Amino acid sequence: MPKRERTKVLIRCKLCGERYTLRGRRGPQGNIETGFKRCLCDNDRDFEVIEQP
Ligand SMILES: [Zn+2]
Repeated sequence: MPKRERTKVLIRCKLCGERYTLRGRRGPQGNIETGFKRCLCDNDRDFEVIEQP
């Protein structure tokens, strides 16, 4: 069974600079799933994802 780690993630929109702090889960390949879909500015693909310690 793959281990799923809970993590806190900061997501910054590269278009408008809005920031969101979310709880995410680390997937088996190191990708982070947050369920975040889109920013207020309608951007849904251009984000910077920063994992919080
Ligand atoms: Zn935005």
